[in-house]
Amino acid sequence: MTRTKRDRRHDPALLRRTAELAIDYLEALPESPVRANQDVAALRATLCGPLPEEPSDPLGVIESLARDAAPGLIALAGPRYFGFVIGGGVPAAVAADWLTSAWDQNAGLYVAGPAASVVEEAVGAWLIEMFGLPPQSGYGFVTGCQMAHFTCLAAARHAVLARTGWDVEADGLFEAPPIEVIVGGEAHATIHAALQYLGMGRDRVHVVPTDEQGRMRADLFEQALAAIPAGRPLIVCVQAGNVNSGAFDPIASIIDATRRREGAWVHVDGAFGLWARLSPSTAGLLEGVERADSWASDGHKWLNVPYDSGLAFVADPLAHAAAMSPPNAPYLQYTSTGQRDEEQWVPEYSRRARGFALYAAIRSLGRQGIQEMVERCCSVAREIAKTLSATPGVEILNDVVLNQVLVRFIVPGGDQAAGDRLTRAVVQDIQDEGTIWLSGTTWHGVAAIRISVSNWATGPDEAEIAVAAILRAADRGRARSGDIRG
Ligand SMILES: *Cc1c(COP(=O)(O)O)cnc(C)c1O
Repeated sequence: MTRTKRDRRHDPALLRRTAELAIDYLEALPESPVRANQDVAALRATLCGPLPEEPSDPLGVIESLARDAAPGLIALAGPRYFGFVIGGGVPAAVAADWLTSAWDQNAGLYVAGPAASVVEEAVGAWLIEMFGLPPQSGYGFVTGCQMAHFTCLAAARHAVLARTGWDVEADGLFEAPPIEVIVGGEAHATIHAALQYLGMGRDRVHVVPTDEQGRMRADLFEQALAAIPAGRPLIVCVQAGNVNSGAFDPIASIIDATRRREGAWVHVDGAFGLWARLSPSTAGLLEGVERADSWASDGHKWLNVPYDSGLAFVADPLAHAAAMSPPNAPYLQYTSTGQRDEEQWVPEYSRRARGFALYAAIRSLGRQGIQEMVERCCSVAREIAKTLSATPGVEILNDVVLNQVLVRFIVPGGDQAAGDRLTRAVVQDIQDEGTIWLSGTTWHGVAAIRISVSNWATGPDEAEIAVAAILRAADRGRARSGDIRG
């Protein structure tokens, strides 16, 4: 096989056709059903096969990929997706993400992409200002909040051990002074996972019980703190935005109490909740958060930047860089420019230039646009909760302080198990119907439906559509169980 010059160039027809396919997908998104149209066996039958031995025409590959993947794509980025906490992509961010692939910068070193490095500087400064964090904070752009926790808690591990004279980066954790970690009973799984990766043990933590909203109890936090001997290296993880209820730990009082322990570190899980800082109506939930030591959040949730986009901030940039900088490799000595080498701030080495999509999102929305997006989502959540709570047989289980609603169906005259069965049946029915998508959870021992409003395009119309879909599913569920709604 001889390669012609043309074979070594990008084909404009391929790229134009690909743009068309992407545009068709995005244009159909607002009306698309929110469910897969093929089961896993059918997807495997079309997508899996023998290892390709021979080259294929790229255009044919893309056409068939788009065709074969379509039935297994979920309209996650559309306005009727209420599952987990998942944002879509605002137009400028999606477009910037396309360019990011074409530019193919390695945003690990300044010399491998100066524009990518400087764009991170711009985005870092903007986010720190918007969130009201200490201006000198270090920042790193990672794959998600999971890796933001990893980054921040690595910095925490560095700092609390450095105070004892222990160099954890060089010497590891064997024989190091033990680190005490306090978390809330409702800490997100990714906090435990980060502790697991960092050798601090996901179960080797002091767990503080939570109240009925899922907030750490301040009095029990004080008790847990008092039980830890003075002088012990200590890390406290607080939550700003419970993944089910949207509730916030009593951040200010936890920070105040922790500050009485010299050298103790407070880390904030603000995956989506940190964005509540942007609206005066919700900023109070985060009072005092700027006095923490590190903050983890997401771009791909509430800022509506395409996957993947996580945000890590550390008040002490030296602790941040000490924890993340790779050991010096001789071939890098010649690249040091004194400029931002992104790899100094994240666990990655070679990496995608994630800053471009963040940059485009923030520039296109502006602080006002982001505030409006946050407020619109909260108002849709409140609207859904209000309408549902006025319906017989429906309970709202949480105080709707942010963008999360927990709903449960009860069966008049029935027991808790009957309510659980109906609630789970409603979730399944909604997912099968595909008008909206949401998922179920267990909240304080009972089955519940989780509604998360996190998409830039979701508005009052979608609130009505969601309520109607939920009530339709409940009617069908009751009819099936021979029970008529009153
Ligand atoms: C989603 C979420 C995470 C994990 O974020 P990823 O971006 O999925 O890694 C952590 N904490 C909370 C509260 C979350 O909602």
